[in-house]
Amino acid sequence: MRDFSRSHDALSLNTATVRKQWRLPEIVDACARHGIRTIAPWRDQVADCGLARAGELIRAHGLALSGYCRGGMFPAIDAAARRAALEDNFRAVDEAAALGSPCLVLVVGGLPGALDGAPAHRDLGRARGEVRDGVAALLEYAREAAMPLAIEPLHPMYAADRSCVNTLEQALDLCDAVDPGRGGGVGVAIDVYHVWWDPKLAAQVARAGRDRILAFHVCDWLVRTTDLLLDRGMMGDGVIDIPAIRRWVEGAGYRGACEVEIFSAGNWWQRPGDEVLATCIARFGSCV
Ligand code: ZN
Repeated sequence: MRDFSRSHDALSLNTATVRKQWRLPEIVDACARHGIRTIAPWRDQVADCGLARAGELIRAHGLALSGYCRGGMFPAIDAAARRAALEDNFRAVDEAAALGSPCLVLVVGGLPGALDGAPAHRDLGRARGEVRDGVAALLEYAREAAMPLAIEPLHPMYAADRSCVNTLEQALDLCDAVDPGRGGGVGVAIDVYHVWWDPKLAAQVARAGRDRILAFHVCDWLVRTTDLLLDRGMMGDGVIDIPAIRRWVEGAGYRGACEVEIFSAGNWWQRPGDEVLATCIARFGSCV
């Protein structure tokens, strides 16, 4: 396993980690200050700054991307809405390509309307079918753009509103369904927050292999967590054995960036951004 104790070259900053402190241009400057060479920006932050300017800033600072957040949200109430969702995903692919991202991360969606508190139905099987169809259709477009799709399984607590793909096994089954010949262009983003509890995790990481693992995200699971979305912990503050999972991921052949992704409304989003980045770097060396 790679030694992260002396260098944070492999650290990527998911820009949501400091989204309350800074806008994208300030985040890019801060990364330069802290010697962070890789980022994973969000579409809303890029839109806020303008796609062309975001690309210029990233290139001017010599930054690489570890992913682009995010596409997905395929299930919808009718065919027109599903088509609109797919079209929006095409634009996400275009943006990811313009920014030089190695993949587009997909949070695939759940029951339509659930994110707004009003689910249109209770048929999770239907949603999963729409996800499969959506990923298959997007894959055709993404292959033209040479933009790999990274399906991120989300913890089952998000099955209703954010993702009906909830285990790594399920995400890999989906990859196999849309890419049975393993021709490439589709894989998974493994986020320890979502998968750490899974008794099949080690076996499924091995099954994924080098060609299917497109991204690796780290943070920590806090006991007595106070919010299902916005109370992620800093690495080392929770119960996830992050080095054990990284060992499996690297054992499968992954050598890419380890992306720090922390949504923390009550804690880290309240602190000065420079303190957050310095802590990310320190914990990257000791707890990842
Ligand atoms: Zn993630």
